[in-house]
Amino acid sequence: MKTLEIETSQIDMRDEVVSSLLKWYQENARTLPWRDSPSPYRVWISEIMLQQTTVATVIPYFSRWMIDFPDIKSVAEASLDEILKQWQGLGYYRRAQNIHKAANIMVEYFDGEVPEDKETLKTLPGFGPYTTAAVLSIAFGQREAIVDTNVRRFIMRLLGREGIADSKQDKWIREYLEFLMPYKEMRSFNQSLMEIGALICPSKTPKCLICPVQKNCKAFHLGLQDVIPITKKKKLEKIDAGLAVIHDKKKFYIQKRPAKGLWANMWEFPGGKREERETLEETVRREIKEEVGIELSHVVFFSKIRHFYTHFDVSLHVFICETNDFIEESEVAAWVSLEEMKKYPMPSANGKILDQLREHFV
Ligand code: SF4
Repeated sequence: MKTLEIETSQIDMRDEVVSSLLKWYQENARTLPWRDSPSPYRVWISEIMLQQTTVATVIPYFSRWMIDFPDIKSVAEASLDEILKQWQGLGYYRRAQNIHKAANIMVEYFDGEVPEDKETLKTLPGFGPYTTAAVLSIAFGQREAIVDTNVRRFIMRLLGREGIADSKQDKWIREYLEFLMPYKEMRSFNQSLMEIGALICPSKTPKCLICPVQKNCKAFHLGLQDVIPITKKKKLEKIDAGLAVIHDKKKFYIQKRPAKGLWANMWEFPGGKREERETLEETVRREIKEEVGIELSHVVFFSKIRHFYTHFDVSLHVFICETNDFIEESEVAAWVSLEEMKKYPMPSANGKILDQLREHFV
């Protein structure tokens, strides 16, 4: 992606764009829980939760989190299971693990505070370029450019830059923001960009008639606001998986995932992906033999749950199973009642299975 050449017209419109954005933000910013007393801790947690997740979804999670973990010390003192349980349903669980790791480092080396120094902050788990810049600018008022999907789309339209809205655009967008950013009011400036992108300039049907920067928007003047930027459609890979709900009366077998990789350290019902030419019952029997090392004596289809992930469209075929073999409990294997299962952090799709089991077994 070629770098940005600042045109004379952009220099002329710079102050006007900045003041329009700040004024609009002052008058229209949504009241959101993390905007009340935006301490570095609250900004950090909200920015992590908001990654890949909508504001409406995050609000109740953020509010609950702040009740249970009011400060960095309380996060560090919690067990990883408690943190993951609190995060359950938000997805991308690595975010929660990184919060836990970073909170422990902050307590040990930074007096339980978020460090204000950029070079230090970006060494902490979960502090990539976006989160580092967001915390530094919104919490500490430092002059840092933030580019998220809303900002990217808004700037591409403002400058009439055609192309796909992906991270390949970010280099020139950052250069432009370096030029545009004011030297004060950084908190409001960066939030105004994100907010206007979300509320006024969404990907479908931008509200140009009430947009505060309409006068300076190149896409609007060229009539290209509906075609800039191009949105790349993702094709989701379809996956069929067989899951075993192995029960012994009212106790159910669950196991802990490895400490690394997808859904690390979370608990789940065992099972896996269907292999070619395999029936789903064969999948379940094979997976349980491989993962748990036992034979199933009884396998009955229970339900099918469809779950969408960023890259996958997964159909989980759930079987109620029994075994005559012995399964020993350990740190990573447990027999628990449906009631006790509330204490175990599980990926969302397993949560859906639990809801069905509660209806069936209670
Ligand atoms: S005028 Fe329309 S396209 Fe341009 S920034 Fe505003 S809402 Fe977006």
